[in-house]
Amino acid sequence: MASQIGDNIPNRIEETDVNLAEYATLRLGGPAKRLITVTTSHDAITALRSASEAGERPFVLAGGSNVIISDAGWPSTVILLRNQGVTVLDSSAEYVTVRVAAGHNWDAFVQWAISEGLSGVECLSGIPGSAGATPIQNVGAYGQQTCDTLLSATVYDRMSRRVVEYDQAACRFGYRTSVFKRNDRYLVTDVTFRLYRSPNSQPIRYAETARKLGVDVGDTVPLAEARASVLDSRRSKGMVLDDADPDTYSVGSFFVNPVITSDEFEALQKRVATEPPHWPADGDIKVSAAWLIGQAGFEKGYRRGNVGISTKHTLALTNRGGGTTSELMALAEEVATGVEEKLGIRLHPEPVTVGF
Ligand SMILES: Cc1cc2nc3c(=O)[nH]c(=O)nc-3n(C[C@H](O)[C@H](O)[C@H](O)COP(=O)(O)OP(=O)(O)OC[C@H]3O[C@@H](n4cnc5c(N)ncnc54)[C@H](O)[C@@H]3O)c2cc1C
Repeated sequence: MASQIGDNIPNRIEETDVNLAEYATLRLGGPAKRLITVTTSHDAITALRSASEAGERPFVLAGGSNVIISDAGWPSTVILLRNQGVTVLDSSAEYVTVRVAAGHNWDAFVQWAISEGLSGVECLSGIPGSAGATPIQNVGAYGQQTCDTLLSATVYDRMSRRVVEYDQAACRFGYRTSVFKRNDRYLVTDVTFRLYRSPNSQPIRYAETARKLGVDVGDTVPLAEARASVLDSRRSKGMVLDDADPDTYSVGSFFVNPVITSDEFEALQKRVATEPPHWPADGDIKVSAAWLIGQAGFEKGYRRGNVGISTKHTLALTNRGGGTTSELMALAEEVATGVEEKLGIRLHPEPVTVGF
């Protein structure tokens, strides 16, 4: 059985011709020539170095929840991160600074923080994958994002062959992106967060969450209540992994919300009868990709062979069982083309493609 994030793995394990579909939440993808499972940052760096020195192109995989692996797989070495652990570095009356190993299960870390009375990540409850991947795309949900609490990422730079500390500015965070995304120069070995010592959440920013909790945007609620509410919302959208539910055999949101200029927004408004859901984005306008997909005529549950749009959320493309990556990519293209033809906006994928 494939190792999952959070499993206890004794040592560095090396295997050949390994089916990568077992390590991806989409359950799609071909084989890796070699898979090296590492349980320490040191082993991860060593494995990466030796593969590079052998002329290979190593790929770093953690929880496999934001990757689309080609049917052909990866012709070289995959390094599977399973280093774990949370270390308190500093503590005051107001803050606690914690370092989390990259391969540590993200949601286990969130649960730990809540149980310790630490706030700042409670609305990121239920996001699959590893702590080390959270800076890669500046993971965000329900009004919180990684850059709100991240102090620094410990990074092995394959170019300089050194371990360096990347602060907020060096991470160059943006909306679902950072300096690390689609960039194999860096291996994040640990992430350091500064959390607030508080039994209550940070101010709730997301209107849906505030409504559900019966509070106003800007209010705070007990940490456990914030987590329960977010998990409940996420489950209703198939956004919490569940072996029994093919709506969760996905990468979460397949497309990012497009950010467009005010002129483009005006053109969009002319094409549709109603006001598109939108938010300000640094002088531009972010439009809901899920809404655009719906407007283009794609409904929840839309099927194309063994893949389809989730029955719970228009933005999640799912493997209904027995699908292939080619089928999924054809569905993604059909949706993106449909939106572009009908509404004049091109959607771009959020996950990383591997082996294409
Ligand atoms: C059901 C579901 C719901 C989701 N909900 C959300 C959500 O609400 N918000 C959100 O932002 N995302 C969401 N996602 C996407 C995904 O969970 C996150 O992006 C997550 O952080 C990916 O972590 P991972 O460990 O699975 O990364 P992987 O899929 O293993 O890797 C993703 C990319 O990051 C790179 N990478 C991973 N770890 C490292 C490292 N330590 N150093 C260098 N590179 C690394 C990989 O090489 C790859 O390019 C969801 C996914 C699913 C399946």
